[in-house]
Amino acid sequence: MLVLIIILMVFVFLKPAPRNVDKEIVLVEKNVLKEDFSPQTLPSGNESRYDIHLKMETDGEFQIGTAIEIKNTSEDTWQELVFYFIPNIFTQDSSEQLGNTLDASATIQVHDVLVDDKTSGFTLANDTLTIPLDAPVQPGENVAVDFSYQFILPVGGLRFTKTKDNYHLAQFYPMLATYRDHKWNKEEYGFRGETFHTGFSDFHVSYDIPESYTFVSTSEEESYPSQRIGAFHVKDVKEIFIAILKDPLVVEKQVGDVNIRVFGFEEKDDLYKEISEIASDSLQYFQQILGLYPFTQLDIVLDSLGMEYPGIVTAGSIYSKPINDEAVKNMVIHEIAHQWFYGVINNDPYNEAWLDEGFTSFAEEMYHFSKTDDEVPYENMLNRIELIKDSSLPVNLPLDQYENNSHFYGKARTMLWQLFKERGGLEEAEKFLKTYYNIYKYKEVNTEEFVRFARNYFDLEDDSELSTWLEINN
Ligand SMILES: [Zn+2]
Repeated sequence: MLVLIIILMVFVFLKPAPRNVDKEIVLVEKNVLKEDFSPQTLPSGNESRYDIHLKMETDGEFQIGTAIEIKNTSEDTWQELVFYFIPNIFTQDSSEQLGNTLDASATIQVHDVLVDDKTSGFTLANDTLTIPLDAPVQPGENVAVDFSYQFILPVGGLRFTKTKDNYHLAQFYPMLATYRDHKWNKEEYGFRGETFHTGFSDFHVSYDIPESYTFVSTSEEESYPSQRIGAFHVKDVKEIFIAILKDPLVVEKQVGDVNIRVFGFEEKDDLYKEISEIASDSLQYFQQILGLYPFTQLDIVLDSLGMEYPGIVTAGSIYSKPINDEAVKNMVIHEIAHQWFYGVINNDPYNEAWLDEGFTSFAEEMYHFSKTDDEVPYENMLNRIELIKDSSLPVNLPLDQYENNSHFYGKARTMLWQLFKERGGLEEAEKFLKTYYNIYKYKEVNTEEFVRFARNYFDLEDDSELSTWLEINN
């Protein structure tokens, strides 16, 4: 038994420490990309800082104050501000209109909207909250907006929901849309995929919750059980997520600088321990092949559907149906991979979901292949695509162009694999992802930029390897 432990320890110490990763990245980049290549990022058109205060009453009602300091970094003068206000999707009115059935509707009351300390009008239609500006905001100028509102969570909502005894606060505050091509980039809400897109922002959050609950969130400085009254700061994240949990079973595991915490709600200690192990192992793999995980804490809440948020993920069900233990583990690996593709490399998940879902699925599968000696089954993968309805559609269309998610998950992943069939397989795919990640971290990419990168990285003579699965407009 002791021998086994020693062997395992040796194995652990032989693994390269994540801190060395950055040096390797520089070498890879110099070797592979041509010197004249410089990455281009899509600007979000604004810089925003959110200050959120949240108070939860014992009856489950939330009082929220959100102050947002916004800088116009676009070239245009703004006549209005446009936000996603997703809680409004789950009210009785919106649900009836959208044909969405809930076990219980949300209730929402917006008390005040202030622009630069003056009361302002606004319109709210489904999840679109628009504020007309009395004083237009010029490029380079700032504007401050304050919202105060209260809500009760729906039951059976999507992401923003109450489950049995837990409160999931996803997208619970007005989120400023990106501004590009001379307009606010705001699409209609949809229940399939992620129809909201934000730039990287800074957040300060303070909270006050009832006794007997614990606060679990994007914050990297939480202990269990949490304080009843607390606060946190986080920088450069697309959004924040908060779960307010009742009596969770908690397993913690320290991996290098990262504290992994698994929160479960059934008597399944062994499973939660296994999940903490696989989370730790996959996190180390992704750190090795990509770069450092950006926080010192990773929370995994095993309640509700599989979803990624900065520093915290949820897993446990698909389309509100619970899934088996193995599927939960795979889901956790997938959501962890999103910390790099979504969390650090940004993309518009409505218009180009393949850039996070396809890359995340690709990285997830790379992790699985790294654990076995199995050959990557390139042909089988291609055959599986044939089964997708309208399989010839490119993978980079907006969400409303697809009937299901297969193109931007499975087909995108498969076509990324094909790039390495004759180019060294898994090992070269890992190098490719490391270079891509290091070049685009904390930037927003689109298909056009990916194509520019791929042409340079692979020294492609033409687009024939890309144009069969990507719609290329440049
Ligand atoms: Zn995903």
